[in-house]
Amino acid sequence: MSRDNSRAMWYAVVAGLGLALVFLGLGLYLALTGEGASSSEGERTAAARKVSGPDMVLIVLDAMRADRVGAERKGVPVTPFLNKLREEGAWFPDAMTACTWTRPAMASLFTSAYVETHGIVFAAVDEAAGDRQTALGKERATLAGVLAEAGYATAGVQTNGNLFPVMGFDRGFQHYDTSLDAPGQWVTDTSLKALSGLSSPFFLYAHYMDTHVPYHSSDKWRQLLGYDGAALSEEERKIVEDFKDYYVEWCHYVKGRHEVFAFEELSEAGKEAALLLYDASVREVDEAVRILVEGVWAKSPEAVVVVLADHGEHFWDHGLLGHGLSVYDCELRIPLIIHGGKTPPGRQEGLAEIVDVAPTLVSLTGLDQPVEWQGKNLFSHVERPAYARTQSDSPAWNVELDTVVAGDLKLIVNGKDGTQQLFDRKADPEEEQDLSAERPEDLSALLSLLHRHRADNLRRRSGGHTEVTVDPETLEQLRQLGYMH
Ligand SMILES: [Zn+2]
Repeated sequence: MSRDNSRAMWYAVVAGLGLALVFLGLGLYLALTGEGASSSEGERTAAARKVSGPDMVLIVLDAMRADRVGAERKGVPVTPFLNKLREEGAWFPDAMTACTWTRPAMASLFTSAYVETHGIVFAAVDEAAGDRQTALGKERATLAGVLAEAGYATAGVQTNGNLFPVMGFDRGFQHYDTSLDAPGQWVTDTSLKALSGLSSPFFLYAHYMDTHVPYHSSDKWRQLLGYDGAALSEEERKIVEDFKDYYVEWCHYVKGRHEVFAFEELSEAGKEAALLLYDASVREVDEAVRILVEGVWAKSPEAVVVVLADHGEHFWDHGLLGHGLSVYDCELRIPLIIHGGKTPPGRQEGLAEIVDVAPTLVSLTGLDQPVEWQGKNLFSHVERPAYARTQSDSPAWNVELDTVVAGDLKLIVNGKDGTQQLFDRKADPEEEQDLSAERPEDLSALLSLLHRHRADNLRRRSGGHTEVTVDPETLEQLRQLGYMH
């Protein structure tokens, strides 16, 4: 049997038997724990009864690249506290988001649904369309909702306007604090204040924006990591120290709104300085997370702490900046750590998806996950392909990208122009060698997986999203984040 045939057979085994393994694994789990016996088929969740599950904290670092966890700057760690969590907890080195911008990705996290299932796509701020926004619908079960129904006290602290109550992301939270673009210290302080009012079991969600453009870290962290603005020209120094103007102009340019890019291209030293300032923001948020988690531990030493990102970020990788424009690994891969409770520590091999996080947390309570959730319990170690889709319904963005990852291979399909790219992630982690012409059997096998996946999503799609109008202040924040027509 050729290598390609062998690989094609493996895909068939994964795709065909994956579901059976899920049920087998679930059956063994239920038999061992005695949980779930009261559930009946079709029941949305077994959450009618109260549970005594662990306290849980879900921490999202917006636009945090996976490769920054464990990074160093001249021997100085960029993420000392996340390093500690990673060493002590379960670390998923091959974790993927389901979409490379915030709102759909967070909908996938909260509702364990892929993008075409929940239907929240890029409805950018668009004057012609009357600022139409897609928001989380009321019908789909959310992580916070399932836990609240099971007796958890729930609280969220939010700094990204994409996830404000008008967008439906407060569903299931009994308490939801918001502040547009507030710094990490505010998120930590507000979370600890909310925590003081929560009784066990509790679910606390904190969303940090420090790692999102414009990377306004304080001088303390910039100096710690060795930033030297004086080494740059005055013009480049201004650009990298307030990156938002450059970034927003770049968004205008790539969307064809501006004919000419208004800035000079940054030098290599300027680009490196911009990445260093991103790292300084990562270092600052690492400290804010440390203070929050130590505060949680003071109240609940056994609490389960989850840290992840909604998506990554381009820093000129593949010639791009920001996020929401590609499904390359610099955007697609996310950090994912689950620490504490009875979670098994250590490096967890295999693909992990953002849709798996909610099922994993619910499994820790002994409850069944809602039947419509598409993810799996990460600790069931079921091997299966991973999928993502980044889509815009705004003509200016012109993005419709699907991807499937299976084994070492990754297929990207561009729905706008029909092009396909096939990469060997192990041999070519930078995704520079397109193998689609050389390996037609692999291409065909991955295309089949993707077609089945999309058909399954469309079959499941109902009630995932709704349309809303948004207040001017939040719209302005979205414009400042680059989400504009
Ligand atoms: Zn984001």
